Amino acid sequence: SSRVMLGPLVAAIDQGTSSTRFLVFNAKTAELLSHHQVEINQSFPKEGWVEEDPKEILQSVYECMERTCEKLTQLNVDISNIKAIGVTNQRETTLVWDKETGEALYNAIVWLDLRTQSTVENNPNSLNTYFSAVKLRWLMDNVDEVAEAVLTHRAMFGTVDSWLIWCLTGGKSGGVHCTDVTNASRTMLFNIHTLDWDPELCKYFDIPMEILPKVRSSSEIYGLMKSGCLSGIPISGCLGDQSAALVGQMCFQEGQAKNTYGTGCFLLRNTGAKPVMSEHGLLTTVAYKLGRDKPACYALEGSVAIAGAVVRWLKDNLGIIQTSTELEKLAASVGTSYGCYFVPAFSGLYAPYWEPSARGIICGLTQFTNKSHLAFAALEAVCFQTREILDAMNQDSGIPLTQLQVDGGMTSNRLLMQLQADILCIPVVKPSMPETTALGAAMAAGAAEGVSVWSLRPEDLSEVTSEKFEPQINPEESEFRYARWKKAVQRAMNWET
Ligand code: ADP
Repeated sequence: SSRVMLGPLVAAIDQGTSSTRFLVFNAKTAELLSHHQVEINQSFPKEGWVEEDPKEILQSVYECMERTCEKLTQLNVDISNIKAIGVTNQRETTLVWDKETGEALYNAIVWLDLRTQSTVENNPNSLNTYFSAVKLRWLMDNVDEVAEAVLTHRAMFGTVDSWLIWCLTGGKSGGVHCTDVTNASRTMLFNIHTLDWDPELCKYFDIPMEILPKVRSSSEIYGLMKSGCLSGIPISGCLGDQSAALVGQMCFQEGQAKNTYGTGCFLLRNTGAKPVMSEHGLLTTVAYKLGRDKPACYALEGSVAIAGAVVRWLKDNLGIIQTSTELEKLAASVGTSYGCYFVPAFSGLYAPYWEPSARGIICGLTQFTNKSHLAFAALEAVCFQTREILDAMNQDSGIPLTQLQVDGGMTSNRLLMQLQADILCIPVVKPSMPETTALGAAMAAGAAEGVSVWSLRPEDLSEVTSEKFEPQINPEESEFRYARWKKAVQRAMNWET
């Protein structure tokens, strides 16, 4: 049978908290041709601890890559059309490995992990468990193998992007140890103004700079794939998942914003060439730097720790649903939480509160409350948390958003999307191609100098088809529920005192 003629293709590795995906896009049309996804196991060795296995993460990438190439071959697509690979990843998650054996020296400490809570609470500066520096410090202080490797100059630190790029480009035999500005800006060791590691911060955390990866732009050739079905293909895009989604949603103009609903929920608003400091609990982060000689672009970010994770909790810990898709039916069967409010502060509260000692709370229960109401309250919690971020964002910028662009695994839940529009009182717009995070990484990879198969000029970007959810309840009703939510948050906040 004849080969399908398509022109250049670009692939993306999307290594998220709950799963790994490999996806292949057409560089001219941004169409998704094929993909494969593998779930990632999380372990919770102690209360508040969240770990993942670095080897499993790497294996899942190879597996997704091989399976996608098989699927493409079955579709009669010549895989030699794949010109570049982009990497996007869960951010802040921290790894240390031995450059001589190529082996990780401990599990990956996932961004949600709370083991450093006592460290940050006893620190006079306002630190948070979220960022990599405190996790790395914990590894150096508590894992003998890590301490030893640091002393003997064999240790390499990295977030998931660095681990993957190092392994995929050859590992102990010549792997490239690098990261990009967006991932680096989540470590608390990076200076977002100079766009390099900050010697003061490294000194403060007592972290030797020689273990840090080299910081590169988000779009340039870092190295070539060393093995597997795509051996020899350049890896030329790298962005933290939230930055990648911003790019994939084409939010290149100052003021544009997107919200991604995955394990957590992350609203980023492009602030252009200048870093804007928040007065309302948001973070300032590097949004992207699409080329070595291109300027960095910044964003204000509102991070919510628990979004999709609450669904996983209802499934794995309470067993009230068997699959995450069942949640929608369960919640829709009642269409209200019946006055039940669920603040899933499992890992403390992130923006705008930044309270690591907050804990989850379910309140407003009556004899009448059942699991459907709880399911509904869980969905509503995601929407209320987004509303709090949006309010903070609007206050910081002075220019209210008139609609919200959304993406992420949870947006397949249509009830959630409608609830979100109702609670924000603005339309929610969801692209029909939901894999915007991967798309952003593919765009960065395809646009890199030396690859140049994807044009990011505004006039060349393909039209995005999308679906719009309009607010349907009246604003008074919405305000009433939001006020109740805020009361529930106050109870979650003061839990330990
Ligand atoms: P990540 O990038 O953090 O790995 P994804 O974007 O893949 O996350 O989204 C997965 C999350 O979305 C999971 O936590 C899952 O529980 C949740 N999820 C997926 N589908 C649905 C659904 N239909 N309704 C509610 N939650 C869902």
